Amino acid sequence: MSFNSIIGHNDIKSKLEGSIFENRVGHAYVFTGAQGVGKKTTAIAYSQLLLCNETCKNTREIDVYNRYSEPCGKCMACKTFEAGTNPDFTIIESSKSTISIDEIRQMQGDIIIKPIYSDKKVYIIVNAQKMTIQAQNCLLKTLEEPPGHSCIILTTSNYDSLLQTIKSRVQRVVFTPLDSELVMDYLNTHYSSNDISKEFVIAYSGGIIGKAIEILENDALKEIREKCFDYLFDNGKAWSEGADYFEENKDNINFILDMMDTIYRDMLLICVKSEKQLINSDKKDIIINNAGKWTVAKLTNVIGLIAKARGHIRMYVNTRLVIDNLMLAFREV
Ligand SMILES: [Zn+2]
Repeated sequence: MSFNSIIGHNDIKSKLEGSIFENRVGHAYVFTGAQGVGKKTTAIAYSQLLLCNETCKNTREIDVYNRYSEPCGKCMACKTFEAGTNPDFTIIESSKSTISIDEIRQMQGDIIIKPIYSDKKVYIIVNAQKMTIQAQNCLLKTLEEPPGHSCIILTTSNYDSLLQTIKSRVQRVVFTPLDSELVMDYLNTHYSSNDISKEFVIAYSGGIIGKAIEILENDALKEIREKCFDYLFDNGKAWSEGADYFEENKDNINFILDMMDTIYRDMLLICVKSEKQLINSDKKDIIINNAGKWTVAKLTNVIGLIAKARGHIRMYVNTRLVIDNLMLAFREV
């Protein structure tokens, strides 16, 4: 993985690359931005370039194609990095809902040991918002007195959940969504399948490349999208049939709610005659046919209910209950 294979974020890549060649790598960064925008991928590419022993650390040779510097891929740091065994590189990424103080303590035990293959050690804490308050306070001690060789990169889609004391000791790097032309170029280069409208994928992603890739590579999500249209609009079926289907797919409940949200927002756009901005532009006819049954007030209300449902899911309210309430609200027109 190198900066050249990461789409967009050119200012960020230039600054990070410059930090290596100008010998001003920070002790701690926080990469912030939406889930899927490219924070972790960029952090990993930066780590390898930083740890590579062949990267000329003082002068950047400007490539004739104006490409970013690549790690050599041949030194021990690179070889072990690519094999996932570089002892100077650690990713802390928890599948659980929290990152515990023990995981941070373990990192602190390791960070004081000198690096083996490089002059730096890099730690990436993915979804740093998952750190408990105790874990954050524990990390603070390292941020206050970091070993000279250390570089810690936090990534988070929820910057506000970090303690102010953490924020004041890290350099913030803000990742913004990409222009839709860039996403379109990427999709056209990397995906040839025609089983889903690329215009929909681009509009749905909102410039978040990870969201576009997720739906293109996950057939289950493509099916859920089709089912959303079937169950939300086919009034010949019992609402409970749709609720059953959505419950069976509750692992993807956030995507289901996203889809419901886009469909009702699209109907709202039809009601206010802004159909050029539709997200589900490939389903324009179905949306137009159904929008006629709704009013702006009722659609606004339903969109509010979907937002509320999202909050309930975050608070671990029973998924079936949340879905039942929504399905009933959708039918009350
Ligand atoms: Zn190398």
